[in-house]
Amino acid sequence: MAALLIVEDDPKIGVLLANALSANGHTTTWQRSGASALHAAAAQPFDLVLLDLGLPDVDGVDVCRELRRLLPGAIIVILTARRDEMDVIVGLESGADDYLTKPFRMTELLARVRAHLRRSTTPGAAVTAPLGLDELTLDTGRRECQVRGTPLVLRPKEFDLLVRLARDSTTAVSRETLMADVWDENWFGSTKTLDVHVASLRRALAELADSLDPPGVVPEITTLRGFGYRLDLHGQVPRDRSERKEHR
Ligand code: CA
Repeated sequence: MAALLIVEDDPKIGVLLANALSANGHTTTWQRSGASALHAAAAQPFDLVLLDLGLPDVDGVDVCRELRRLLPGAIIVILTARRDEMDVIVGLESGADDYLTKPFRMTELLARVRAHLRRSTTPGAAVTAPLGLDELTLDTGRRECQVRGTPLVLRPKEFDLLVRLARDSTTAVSRETLMADVWDENWFGSTKTLDVHVASLRRALAELADSLDPPGVVPEITTLRGFGYRLDLHGQVPRDRSERKEHR
């Protein structure tokens, strides 16, 4: 049983979601405004949030950003009636893990929720991939990541993505495989979700590379055009060093 937060101002959709998710055995809290949703998220933890982006009081994107801060381990799925793909991308960049476009079929929403909750609660063995003398440690049970002994705080799907890439490190993993294994086997939406998460994971790794003291090499995600991505464990040289190398 999971604790779900529904943020939806449309009473018809809100009732439908609350009833369907409760019937599936979840504890649901339904909030109709951004302010009340943030209040609820500050008061108690949630496993998953369904967030309508079109809210009456606060911009849904701002709510998303704040929810991500309040609920670092929760899966956030944005619901949007907006046709513009940019809104979806901004939502994903603000901390959402996935999105559904309205109108959606309830069976699809329930399947997506089920898949997300199954993944985020499945305990697994620790994956430790060697990185020279140091290492990249991904503890899938505790959902913790360390690069060369330094903790790297990642969003749920960034973590899952890194684990999936690390399982086949130095081998390319196709976009289809990543979408199926990290998001949903029945995924048929935009693969922008994958691109946004790869970009934010790259940013997190680059920031870590810059902040390591003493400086060190951290893993890098290489794009294989038209196919997918590959994790290179010895990939990333700190920025100032790589610049110096170019000037030699
Ligand atoms: Ca709305």
